Amino acid sequence: MAVTVVTGSASGIGAAVRAQLERAGHRVIGIDRQNADVVADLSTAGGRKAAVEAAIAACGGVLDGLVCCAGLGPTAPSSSVIVGVNYFGMADLVDGLEGALARGQKPAVTLIGSVASVHPGMDKLPMVSAMLAGDDQAALAQADAMAMPQAAYAGSKYAVAVFARRKAVALGPKGIRINVVAPGAVETPLLDASRADARYGEAIRKFVAPVGRNSAPDEIANVVLFLQSEQASFVHGTVIFVDGGMDAMSRSDRF
Ligand code: NAD
Repeated sequence: MAVTVVTGSASGIGAAVRAQLERAGHRVIGIDRQNADVVADLSTAGGRKAAVEAAIAACGGVLDGLVCCAGLGPTAPSSSVIVGVNYFGMADLVDGLEGALARGQKPAVTLIGSVASVHPGMDKLPMVSAMLAGDDQAALAQADAMAMPQAAYAGSKYAVAVFARRKAVALGPKGIRINVVAPGAVETPLLDASRADARYGEAIRKFVAPVGRNSAPDEIANVVLFLQSEQASFVHGTVIFVDGGMDAMSRSDRF
């Protein structure tokens, strides 16, 4: 039986991924702040280390899949906690579980990015360079100094995409595939909180995908399941937008 770790398994996209993987016959080790096999706070280095250790113990050091869904939106209490969970809560899990994945059967990793990552200028943010350099102290300090939670969110998701592309080069020879699914607006508690926010709510309500609706969590999980399966055996190092056309609408003259 394939064994897959899913972060953020208690809610939204992660819960849908967990349910679909279980229906497909996987044993899932869920990691979340609550209601999970491994309860851990991925916003802190200590919480991430404990999560990795518990996941390795739960899978006996052999893992076939990893899906990183845990994340916070711009309404989180601080920009640094957004960067801590969205970027380091992903990167430290991929790095910490790489050895177990290398011992697995046709191992695959899927990270949840966001269409927000295509916002112009993300590659110029010092916060993003610090994330990609693995300097969590600097990245968290720069995130809070910007005082722009939306930029912290978009920057963290841009860094997730670049992390995956860099890792693809290193993990390919080890037989581990890695890809990103970048959703648009998905009906989850995270989107509810953003829509209700006095600062961002109106803009979020007005930004409607060309298909005229938001997605259900299962429509994102469908693509994650494909990427985690042998059907996707040659898909590696790519970002798949699952956004009802939001990326195309945002930059229709660029590829
Ligand atoms: P959600 O709030 O339903 O689920 C997020 C999960 O992450 C929750 O179970 C939460 O407890 C967990 N989490 C948050 N902080 C954590 C921490 N410190 N430690 C451990 N777990 C933590 O939200 P969702 O919409 O399902 O979000 C899943 C992913 O999808 C996130 O990475 C989010 O950025 C991304 N995303 C969501 C949307 C959307 O519109 N909902 C759009 C694009 C990308």
